[in-house]
Amino acid sequence: MVVGDFAVKVDTVVIGGGVGGYVAAIRAAQMKQKVVIIEKDKLGGVCLNVGCIPSKALITAGHKYQDALSKAETFGVSTEGVKLDFMKTQEWKQTKVVNKLTSGVQMLLKKNKVEIVKGEAVLVDDHTLRAVNEGSAQTYEFKHAIIATGSRPIEIPGFKFGGRVIDSTGGLALTKVPKKLVIIGGGVIGAELGGAYANLGAEVTIIEGSSQLLPTYEKDMVKVVETEFKEKGITVVTNAMAKEAIDNDESVTVKYEMDGKEEAFEADYVMVTVGRRPNTEDIGLEQAGIAVNERGLIPVDNQGRTNISNIFAVGDVVPGPALAHKASYEAKIAAEAISDRKVAVDYKAIPLVAYTDPELASVGLTMNEAKEKGLDVKASKFPFAANGRALSLAKSEGFIRLVTTVKDNILVGAQIAGVGASDIVSELTLAIECGMNAEDIALTIHPHPSLGEVMSDVSELALGIPIHI
Ligand code: FAD
Repeated sequence: MVVGDFAVKVDTVVIGGGVGGYVAAIRAAQMKQKVVIIEKDKLGGVCLNVGCIPSKALITAGHKYQDALSKAETFGVSTEGVKLDFMKTQEWKQTKVVNKLTSGVQMLLKKNKVEIVKGEAVLVDDHTLRAVNEGSAQTYEFKHAIIATGSRPIEIPGFKFGGRVIDSTGGLALTKVPKKLVIIGGGVIGAELGGAYANLGAEVTIIEGSSQLLPTYEKDMVKVVETEFKEKGITVVTNAMAKEAIDNDESVTVKYEMDGKEEAFEADYVMVTVGRRPNTEDIGLEQAGIAVNERGLIPVDNQGRTNISNIFAVGDVVPGPALAHKASYEAKIAAEAISDRKVAVDYKAIPLVAYTDPELASVGLTMNEAKEKGLDVKASKFPFAANGRALSLAKSEGFIRLVTTVKDNILVGAQIAGVGASDIVSELTLAIECGMNAEDIALTIHPHPSLGEVMSDVSELALGIPIHI
C-alpha cells in the first residue's frame, strides 16, 4: 500500500463489469454483502457492448432488409425502392439496444447498493487490490474477490489488427456495409456475422481451417445452415489455413493455403474470428498466488473458487464454453458460495446457440457423446416442415432431434436446427434439468399453432406414437 493511501474495506470486490461481474455483484449485494465492482471500460462488458447483443441487432437488421428486399413478394407484398441506410442501423443498434441495456445495468447495480468504481484493478495480494484510473488510485481491502475480467479476440500471425484487418468488435462497428468481406474462422461468431453481413448486402467468404463450418455442431445441423448460406451467396472454404493479410489502403489481400497451394482473395475488410483469449495476464494473479492453466484460464472448483480460497473466478476467464449465460450462472453460484449458501455448478444442461439462418441450438448430450458415456440411447428426429407455425412463417427448413434412453425415454440431449431454435431449447434444457422423459414432454399441452409443438411431436416420435409424421 502506498503511504498515506487508506484502504477501503469491503466484503466482496468484483473485478470486471461484464455479465459475469455485474450479476455476481448484484447477487452478492442481495446476500447483504458490501460490494464494490471495478470496471475499466464499459459496464456490460463484451456481451452487451460488443458481443451477444449488438451482433443480434445486426442480424435482425439483416433479416428486415432481406424480408423487404426479396422475401416480401412471397407473401404478395410488393416493395419498391428498398434501401439500406447502414448508419441508421448502427445508430439504432447503439442507442436503442446497447445503450438501453448498459444503462439498465448501471441502474440495477445502484439499486442494489453496489458501489461502481471506474478503473483498472490489479491484485496486490490475496486480500488487497488497487484500482487505477487516469493517474489516481484507490486501494481496497477485501474479504472475498470475484475475478470476471473476461476475454479478448485472438490475433493470429500475419493478421495484425488495424486498418482493414478487424476483429469482431471492428466488424460490429463498420460504418458502411463492405462490398466484399472475408472472415477467417467459421465458428459461431464468424458464421453469425457472416450471415448478418450477407443479408445486409456484402459478398462474404468464410475461410475455415477445419473440415466443416461451425465445427462444434453436428454435421446434419450444419448442413441446414450451409444450404441457406449457399442461397445467400456466402462462400465457405474449409480445410484452408489463413496465411497473411496485406492492407493495400483501398482493399486488403487475404492469402490462404489449401491442398498445398496458395490462394488469395481481395476484399474491403478481413475479419478474424478464430477464438478468444482470457484477460488474465495483467491483473496481479501472481501477487495473489492464483494459478492459471496452460491456456491462461483460471481453474476453479464447483463453486468457482480458485486455488486461493477467498478468491473466485467466473465467466470467460475460467475453463468451459465462452458464453454469457454460463458466465452469469457461475456468477450467481460464486456470489452465493461466498455468502455461505450450499451451492455448486451443474453443467449437465448448458444450451449452446448459433444465431445463424436458421438458428442452431444444442443442449445436453449428442448421440455420440451419450454412447461414449456408455448410455443406451436412441435418436428421434422431427422436421420443421411438418409444423404448421413454421410453414406459416415460411421457415420450414431444419429439424429437432431428441436423444433419449432406450429403456425409459429419459431426455439426455437435444439438437435443433430451425427457426426459433434459441427459444425452443429452453424448454428442453428444463426437461433435462428435471430428468424428464419423452412422455412428460408429449403430455405437456403446447399451444397451437406454435413452434413449440415440435417438442411434443418429436417426443411422441420417441415414444413410437407420432401423430404428425
Ligand atoms: P466480459 O464480458 O469480457 O467482461 C469482462 C469485463 O471486465 C470487461 O468489461 C472488461 O473491460 C473488464 N476488465 C477486464 N480487465 C479488467 C481490470 N483489470 N479491471 C477492471 N475491469 C477489467 N455469448 C452468448 O452466450 N451468446 C451470444 O449470442 C454471444 N454472442 C457473442 C458475439 C460476439 C461477437 C462475441 C465477441 C461474444 C459473444 N458471446 C456470446 C460471448 C459472451 O460475450 C461472453 O461469453 C461474455 O461476455 C463473458 O462475460 P464475462 O463477464 O466473463 O466477460
